[in-house]
Amino acid sequence: MQVQKPYRILLYYKYTPIENYEEYAAEHLQFCKDNGLKGRIIVAPEGINGTVSGTIEQTDAYMDYVRKDPRFSDMWFKIDESEGHAFKKMFVRPKKELVTWRLEEDVDPNKLVGTYLKPKEWYEMMQEEDVVILDGRNYYEYDLGHFRGAIRPEVDSSREFPEWIRENMSQFKDKKVLTYCTGGIRCEKLTGILLQQGFENVYHLEGGIVTYGKDPEVQGRLWDGKCYVFDERISVPINHTEEDVVIGRCHYCGTVEDRYVNCANPFCNKQHFCCTECETKFKRSCSDECREHPRNRYVEAEEKAKLQAAGSNA
Ligand SMILES: [Zn+2]
Ligand SMILES: [Zn+2]
Repeated sequence: MQVQKPYRILLYYKYTPIENYEEYAAEHLQFCKDNGLKGRIIVAPEGINGTVSGTIEQTDAYMDYVRKDPRFSDMWFKIDESEGHAFKKMFVRPKKELVTWRLEEDVDPNKLVGTYLKPKEWYEMMQEEDVVILDGRNYYEYDLGHFRGAIRPEVDSSREFPEWIRENMSQFKDKKVLTYCTGGIRCEKLTGILLQQGFENVYHLEGGIVTYGKDPEVQGRLWDGKCYVFDERISVPINHTEEDVVIGRCHYCGTVEDRYVNCANPFCNKQHFCCTECETKFKRSCSDECREHPRNRYVEAEEKAKLQAAGSNA
């Protein structure tokens, strides 16, 4: 029998007008702090987007609090079980938009949006002839795992998508375009952007990759690697069949590895795949320059450990 884990991680969003969003953000933060939740929430005039962790009781109380608000009464929470918190702090930030697109011509997902596909429909349509699958996330998320055959966008922020699509996708205007992202929020506007640019058959995966991975029927089929998540777990498994594979490669030696580390140069911080051997050998630094940086954290930690060892011997 599977035992329920003591904590939960919630992921959710809703595009709905929020008046006085800065005030609302402050009020929301107070509730979260009073209830012991941790995580990151964005409140904007166009809606709310968040991921929080807490015990079962804390997350139950939070979901009640959110759904009691008529604007969020139908909020869909994607829930993962967890052994502990997935964040260190609690932030509720008021921002101009939920995802930073900075579009010249904004799209309202409540008015212009692609067709939603349930996991089973997505699984079937992915295998049709006249489709292209476009990953709606950044390249470093793609590199950890993606749907088989999906296009890797050369972007490291959503803001770069409209131009990237204009330059790289025009030959696919007569195809069905299928987009997906972690929990679905980025596709809410990405599909609108594609429609704006003249793509006619635009679909997106409802509930995103995390929902797909939980569907009892498809069980994450045709997903290769892991799914990048923006909390302390860094990644979660999606494909629960015998086809589960690792697609990451160590940045240094090329061995199969999906362990992401941050470059030890605090001014670089670049996330890269790194095996434990190469982490020691290359001091967790993505380049020679970073390795030799005077503020290299790995080197600092090494020296501190040496000093401590010398001190305890004295
Ligand atoms: Zn290696
Ligand atoms: Zn670096």
